[in-house]
Amino acid sequence: MKKRIAILIMAVFVLTVMTGTCFAKKTFVSMGTGSVSGVYYPLGGGMASIMNTEMDGVNCSVESTGGSVANINLMRKGESQLGMSASSIFFDAVHGKGAFDGKPVKEVLGIMSLYPEAVQIVTLADSGIKSIADLKDKKVAVGAFGSGTELMAKELLALDGITYDDINEDFLGFGEASTGLKDRTIVAGFIWAGVPTAGIMDLASLNKISLVSIDPAKITHLTEKMPFCTELVIPKGTYKGQNNDCTTVAIPAVLGGRADLSEEFVYNMLKTIFDNHDMLVKAHTRGKDVTVETALDGLKDVPLHPGAVKFYKEKGLLK
Ligand code: GLU
Repeated sequence: MKKRIAILIMAVFVLTVMTGTCFAKKTFVSMGTGSVSGVYYPLGGGMASIMNTEMDGVNCSVESTGGSVANINLMRKGESQLGMSASSIFFDAVHGKGAFDGKPVKEVLGIMSLYPEAVQIVTLADSGIKSIADLKDKKVAVGAFGSGTELMAKELLALDGITYDDINEDFLGFGEASTGLKDRTIVAGFIWAGVPTAGIMDLASLNKISLVSIDPAKITHLTEKMPFCTELVIPKGTYKGQNNDCTTVAIPAVLGGRADLSEEFVYNMLKTIFDNHDMLVKAHTRGKDVTVETALDGLKDVPLHPGAVKFYKEKGLLK
């Protein structure tokens, strides 16, 4: 009898330890992305599917958020573990500059650079808007609260001496901006995202759109001032009915993660994402730009996660 009880106790103990270990191994992570009609969201969805199907014991959920600034703040507070951001904003966050002036974000580290995000100022072809200066006194979608788009819109307007006192600003995400343009409740919308952006494709499917170019002197100013900023041409025909090449600027998007994610998790995540790259391309065509060779492009002078350091050392990108 005593022996049986002892065996039973032992069995219960072993089972408890085993299930405990199983539970302890499950990693739940949440990834902050952006507007559903942007590129962070579908590409983040692609990354999450890769993690959920190809990594043992990982459950990654993707959240639609305001965008870059919101994602960094969510990670800082521990409300999400991964998040996407424009690299210039990520740089400012970790160094306590710009929107994060004097409040450097120590909780977040760089993991991988993704693809170029183009500043796209969208209007209807018959709106008469040909330059940023034409936006004065107009109702303009400047991006959602917490978006990088809104910071970029402010920056660009300021180059023409325009502030929110001179326009009627509306804090709209990409989908809402697209609806606003369709309904003519706004005359233009700032969209800072990978090309093509779903919100613009959707608008262009039934409306003749135009993308406003940024003039060369301002492009030079931006590329000299903003980290990682380069000139980019969106060739005509990229969107249905877009008749002119649009000259604008682009900055890489990056994926960051909380410093308290384990080295093992981040290393395995990077390895698994690159091993299943075809799934990323299926999620959004900009997935093509996500390569090991360019994975540090938007993360210069930014502290990297130890799991990322291990991965890039193995790939010969770091010493
Ligand atoms: N770069 C954008 C922002 O932070 C988000 C882009 C996207 O959602 O694809 O506002």
